[in-house]
Amino acid sequence: MITSLNPASHTLSNHTVQSARAGLQSGAFSAVELTTAYLERIHGLNPRLNAFITVADEAALAQARAADQRIARGDTSPLLGIPLGLKDVLSTSGLRTTAGSRILENYIPVWDATVVARLRAAGAVFVGKCNTDEFAMGSTTENSGYGVTRNPHDESRVPGGSSGGPAAAVAADLCVAAIGTDTGGSVRTPAAFCGITGLKNSYGRVSRYGVLAYGSSLDSVGVLARNAMDAALVNGIIAGHDPSDATCVDIPVPNYAGEIETSTNLRGLKVGVPREYFVDGLQREVRDGIQTGIKQLEALGARIVEVSLPNTSLALSVYYMIAPAEVSSNLSRFDGVRYGLRVSGHDLVDMVCNTRTQGFGPEAKRRIMLGTYALSAGYYDAYYTRAQKVRTLIKRDFERAFEQVDVMVSPITPTTAFKIGEKADDPITMYLTDVFTVSMNLAGTCGLSVPCGKDDAGLPIGMQVMGPWMGESTVLKVAQAFQQAVGYGSYIV
Ligand code: GLN
Repeated sequence: MITSLNPASHTLSNHTVQSARAGLQSGAFSAVELTTAYLERIHGLNPRLNAFITVADEAALAQARAADQRIARGDTSPLLGIPLGLKDVLSTSGLRTTAGSRILENYIPVWDATVVARLRAAGAVFVGKCNTDEFAMGSTTENSGYGVTRNPHDESRVPGGSSGGPAAAVAADLCVAAIGTDTGGSVRTPAAFCGITGLKNSYGRVSRYGVLAYGSSLDSVGVLARNAMDAALVNGIIAGHDPSDATCVDIPVPNYAGEIETSTNLRGLKVGVPREYFVDGLQREVRDGIQTGIKQLEALGARIVEVSLPNTSLALSVYYMIAPAEVSSNLSRFDGVRYGLRVSGHDLVDMVCNTRTQGFGPEAKRRIMLGTYALSAGYYDAYYTRAQKVRTLIKRDFERAFEQVDVMVSPITPTTAFKIGEKADDPITMYLTDVFTVSMNLAGTCGLSVPCGKDDAGLPIGMQVMGPWMGESTVLKVAQAFQQAVGYGSYIV
């Protein structure tokens, strides 16, 4: 099914944030009724899709009751009573948070991540914690310690990753929108594979406080939604300065929804097409889909120019040096002493070894070893320092390109969603999937994935719109105009 931008606001399913809000505010249904309907669908479909690791029935209904009281008092906050999914790397007070890892199987945080606290204060309803690759390391959600999530468009295929749970949940109408994280593509890739809209924020736009860390210089919190307007509404709540995260910058948060509301054409906008992103090996339908998307942007008034990001071919190597280095440090806290799993041993070292051997899955172990190696005394300069230098070159590529254009457009992934297991045994082939997404995290810039057609097998294709640092409004405007022009938001199953 293709979602229209304005679905009926009186039913209990297939809602955008906007339509759910209209239904709640007009009294067509209550937050408790809406939440109950979403929870029922989760219980019906989750055994098949495995989009949620934890379903929060009771807590969600309590939040829904509180939202109904606020609505009755005349509160009109945009997310009041809206059922949302949360990637399971976001700490939720009193609600199990696993990061997709068995090492945190029984971990219940005592505080909320700042993002969660802001959504909670805004009256959103958390229906559950969504599946993810272990500590967000992966491109398919096959690295989860809780089983793979299935793509709702074809259950034999991956939903993308690492935010595969949130993306599948939105695409299958198990929640209205969801929060994910993107360290090297993890919001954009699953959004593309599942046919929805995925916004990756600039580094420092959204607080990382309480988000279980993967690569601290790369991690960014983002939104998975049915369309740009919904992403804008949610982003308006989660973005902004947080004294608890020293890297979260103190720059005013635009009224994203207000700014994009009137975006109906792209006159005066310069769109760059980076030549290095249209390589051999691109699936034919993906290439054609993006070309058609670019023509539509042109028809909306944008000027299309070719640009170059010359260091693109180095991005994967740099990313897969820096991200494992950071994760090897971040995961050192899981030692059986502080919190999470503890497996006993005959002395302290044995206990730590047993805990980490049992608690971490193969990909986490692989990255800990890679990262520890890259950071070790004899190799630090040869690998880590050199990677940081090339990272600066990649960042400069983006700065130069954005002196010429407002946004850039490219594919998200070389192919549409592939079969579960197809690449799971070959980490290098899997890492290549990230070729178009990791540069933005190295550069710290923002962007999004917007659906732009389907391939011959009926699988969604995602178009990447890349913007400069803090350019969220611009990329959202492009997506909004594009979605209005093509007449739909997302492909929902
Ligand atoms: N696929 C990339 C990785 O495995 C990106 C993951 C992410 O963005 N969290 O590192």
